[in-house]
Amino acid sequence: MGEPGSPNPHQNIKTMQAEIIAIGAELLLGATVDTNSAYLARQLTACGVGVGRTTLVGDHVEAIAAAVREALGRADLVICTGGLGPTLDDLTRDGVALAFGRPLEFQAALLDQIAARFAAMKRAMPESNRRQAYVPNGARVIENPRGTAPAFLVEDAIGTVVVLPGVPHEMRYLFEHAVIPYLRDERGITTVILVKTLHASGLSESMIGEMIADLMSQSNPSVGISAKQARYELRITAHAESCAEAEALLAAASSTIIERLGTNLIGDEPLATTLVKLLAQRNMGLALHEATPVAPIFRALTAVRGGAEVIRGLVVHPLDQAADETAAAALAHAAAASVAGRWRTALGLAAQPVSSPDASGLTAVSVALVAPEGLVRQTTRRYDLRQPEGWDFVATLALDLTRRYLSGEPV
Ligand code: AMP
Ligand code: MG
Repeated sequence: MGEPGSPNPHQNIKTMQAEIIAIGAELLLGATVDTNSAYLARQLTACGVGVGRTTLVGDHVEAIAAAVREALGRADLVICTGGLGPTLDDLTRDGVALAFGRPLEFQAALLDQIAARFAAMKRAMPESNRRQAYVPNGARVIENPRGTAPAFLVEDAIGTVVVLPGVPHEMRYLFEHAVIPYLRDERGITTVILVKTLHASGLSESMIGEMIADLMSQSNPSVGISAKQARYELRITAHAESCAEAEALLAAASSTIIERLGTNLIGDEPLATTLVKLLAQRNMGLALHEATPVAPIFRALTAVRGGAEVIRGLVVHPLDQAADETAAAALAHAAAASVAGRWRTALGLAAQPVSSPDASGLTAVSVALVAPEGLVRQTTRRYDLRQPEGWDFVATLALDLTRRYLSGEPV
């Protein structure tokens, strides 16, 4: 493994590459959310199979065949889900047969299974269910004890395609009971992929990207960032031949990230969870003053376990007077001190916007944190509060300010 002189021998770990194709007109219409692809991606990753792409296609024979052929051009394994029903619009069988250039073939044994299922339910089998007894010539049938649509697997020199039903519980059952054993016993999949998530805030996504650009451009372990309201998730993914090796790769990358991001790195858990734990460990209560009934700080804290217990009081008081930045800062300071005094808490936290947005539509918001020693943190930032999500950024700022104070970060 690894070429001589290669800086990272794990860069060359060979993992099986898979693609997922979800099939169904309802998915393209947005009427059904494609949860099957997410499930399959998680499961394949956990089995040590890399997922290179997921595709959505409608119920069209040519589109399905083209998607399967293209996916086989890139990946060793393609997993299709959906379009195996008995009606004329379910065309996955036909599309996969076309992709391999094989005819559909009637399998009497399959029809017997389907008929037996109807008999067990004491219902007559509609003629259209005969369609489900056809599979591409040479396909291996995967029996489906959860429904009438049989799944199948086609192995060919160009690659392997596994076709699973769209009904989520049937698809999951067959993945666990047929696909995983196939990967393990017949394809000898032994590599592992482990994923570790770190949380950060206080920087922009592009700044984080620049600080860890070297890690983000390597393939094993790979690092990806996703952003949500000024909070960032850094996902490290490692491939290796054993759990221990994968864990070592994750540990090395995460210590580099921790070192580079410094106090902007929150840890293994999201911001609100981390802050609630910091408060609970110190047996500290928090009183809040929010300038909007949206109460973003309260909502962010109470959305996590233990959040409600650390909040000792809340004032919601929309601004009822004109206030510029200086006035908003003074109000925020006074409000934080007032709620801390009123509920005799260690900490008082307030967010106070100015009375009107600036010419670009942004509103300055002052956030103040008061502790027993007085005003310990205060900052003003501009947000677009015309969107309700704008307030979530205010919550991130307020919680992060408090986290930094409790972690002992110097101002
Ligand atoms: P089908 O196999 O196309 O007949 O799909 C049967 C049912 O499974 C559909 O009506 C959907 O409700 C559901 N389904 C199909 N594909 C998906 C998918 N990718 N994600 C979630 N549900 C799905
Ligand atoms: Mg369908």
